[in-house]
This record gives sequence, structure tokens and C-alpha cells, in this order.
Amino acid sequence: MKFRITDHCVKCGACAMDCPTQCITQLPLQFYIGAGCIGCGDCYEICPVGAIEIVEDDAIEGIDTPKSEECNKASD
Ligand code: SF4
Ligand code: SF4
Repeated sequence: MKFRITDHCVKCGACAMDCPTQCITQLPLQFYIGAGCIGCGDCYEICPVGAIEIVEDDAIEGIDTPKSEECNKASD
């Protein structure tokens, strides 16, 4: 599962602080999810304004998949 930060971001920084791999970077005009993302969904869940979206169509069906399972799959 992959995620993307949209223009709805209010730059609060909560996602960057919560990301377990610290792959969210604050650029001059926006926050950006980098290559270190493991797809855990923490940022998606913590964003107060719903500014993070899932970007893979086939991942939408797995939106309720437990986070720990996703992290395990990603680290295999
Ligand atoms: S899905 Fe997880 S690893 Fe990826 S950017 Fe969000 S918090 Fe970080
Ligand atoms: S938590 Fe949401 S609003 Fe805050 S910086 Fe991240 S994407 Fe932007």
C-alpha cells in the first residue's frame, strides 16, 4: 500500500513525527513521502485533515487490513 500527501495538507507535521521510518520530509512548500515508506498507514490515520490518500487502486480493498500485517509484509 502506498500513500501520497495531497494539497489539503495544512503542514502540521504530525505525519512526519509519527512515521516509523522517518521517510516523510518537509520540503519548502509541502510535505513529501519518500522511498523509505513501508506502507504501514500510520500517517494516513493520524492526519487531522485527511490529506493523505492511498495511491494504488488494488490497495483500496485492503484499507481495513491491520497495520501490523502490512508492516510485516513490507519487511519480508
Ligand atoms: S505509510 Fe507509514 S512508513 Fe509510509 S509514510 Fe506513512 S507513516 Fe511513514
Ligand atoms: S499530518 Fe496531514 S496535514 Fe499534517 S503535515 Fe502530514 S499530511 Fe499535512
